[in-house]
Amino acid sequence: MNAVWFKRDLRVYDNPALHHAMTASLNGEPTIGVFCLSEWEWDKHQVSPAQRSLIVKHLRTLAASLNHLNVPFVVLKTSTFENTANSLEELVISNGITHVYFNRQYEVNESTLETQIQNKLIAQGVQCSGFDDQCVVAPGQITNKQGECFKVYTAFKRSYFERFYDLARPIASLPQSQTLPNLQTDLKALDAIEAGLPEHSNRDASWPIGEEAVHQMLNDFVDDKARHYQENRDYPNLAATSGLSPYLAIGVLTTRQCVQVALNANNGQLDAGNPGLESWINELIWRDFYRHLMFFYPKLSKHKAFKDETDQLPWQHDERAFKQWCDGQTGFPIVDAAMRQLNQTGWMHNRLRMIVAMFLTKDLFIDWRWGEAYFMSKLVDGDLASNNGGWQWSASTGVDAAPYFRIFNPTRQSERFDPDGDFIRQYVPELASLNAKSIHNPSSQQRHNLGYAYPMVDHKTATQRTKAWFKGESVHE
Ligand code: FAD
Repeated sequence: MNAVWFKRDLRVYDNPALHHAMTASLNGEPTIGVFCLSEWEWDKHQVSPAQRSLIVKHLRTLAASLNHLNVPFVVLKTSTFENTANSLEELVISNGITHVYFNRQYEVNESTLETQIQNKLIAQGVQCSGFDDQCVVAPGQITNKQGECFKVYTAFKRSYFERFYDLARPIASLPQSQTLPNLQTDLKALDAIEAGLPEHSNRDASWPIGEEAVHQMLNDFVDDKARHYQENRDYPNLAATSGLSPYLAIGVLTTRQCVQVALNANNGQLDAGNPGLESWINELIWRDFYRHLMFFYPKLSKHKAFKDETDQLPWQHDERAFKQWCDGQTGFPIVDAAMRQLNQTGWMHNRLRMIVAMFLTKDLFIDWRWGEAYFMSKLVDGDLASNNGGWQWSASTGVDAAPYFRIFNPTRQSERFDPDGDFIRQYVPELASLNAKSIHNPSSQQRHNLGYAYPMVDHKTATQRTKAWFKGESVHE
């Protein structure tokens, strides 16, 4: 018998591990699916309640899709790293499984676990096969002349375009149904987890569930909004982006599938044709870029800055200021609206992620790792590589990051990207009565009357201090 070890690849379409296992099953050896559900690991990686809820719901839809293929699916509840390895080994050995298929993960802990499990199984005579499914082109395949990952995005993208038709992995087709093996689907582990999820994780009721629904979202977006993505993508009030990140994060969808649908709509062109589609493809490549970097630089999974010297900067650990930022009580309306959106919905628009991350790291000079961890604990689309990439970009500690002296002014950003103030009104209701001119930076009198916070810092003074620290100058306070 074969087993597919599912992880962050909760889908049956374009799933190389499942495809290969079931192709082998056509020769007579049936396939089963297994998922190790470890709350301990979720806690360690600060997986948000919203994402836990999305995973659990998709484990159920995955079980149903596998059921159509006559593939029994077992969810094992495990407690620790070692326990995951042992439980999986036990399932494999007790069911006479001879071959385990899985899609690789590139985060340090996850890939260490993969190696450990493989070693255990191989020692018992079980074959193991790993596949790359997370990127369009597998990490390690797009390199500079020294065989390293490009550190500048435009160079990575140029090479990606040149090599796309040679290196893009083929989309794995949906396997044929098999003869049902003698094992029952077992989802008991999900009941206990579901019961334990806090009430607010269900606020994500608006996220469609299941692969079919997600493909519909993808097709609708590409047919319609993607064509105007370039001009509209930066306006949080327009809902002009795909909203597919939660599904990419847990592997209900792949970037390969997204790029293919965009290519089909763009006459097969990656970089010519409709500017909106091109711009969207560009963002999907950013996602792959951050994964390639994580593969090459394990330190990115270990809370280290890409630019080592920036770890010596006097990052502040001011818990009070951090809490004001977390709670959306900074006195900067666009920052507060964004943080409240995150706290209430588990999602935040990309432009706002950049604004709040810049504010935390450049106005408050708080350690970017605090912000990174807070995002993970709230985001429905929390993804180590993209989150770390976004935070290190904003903090100017990462690869091809924002230069330290180019700091967003939150008020100017607000005037530019929420010109009528509608987004602010939605999440900072105390400011709802203000007009488009004053809502971005209310007067002291207005703040007093409306019970809204005063700005917690003076942007100009705060960012001068930040620039001095980056320049290595001493700062007198
Ligand atoms: P669309 O605009 O429709 O883009 C399509 C897809 O491209 C996205 O779903 C995403 O997978 C990818 N993408 C888009 N922009 C980026 C980007 N800047 N970097 C990497 N990939 C991108 N994205 C996550 O998926 N998980 C995270 O934890 C995460 N944390 C972030 C933290 C910070 C500080 C910043 C600045 C960005 C972060 N991003 C993260 C990237 C980006 O904000 C989200 O991917 C995007 O907002 C998701 O919305 P969407 O699906 O509508 O994107």
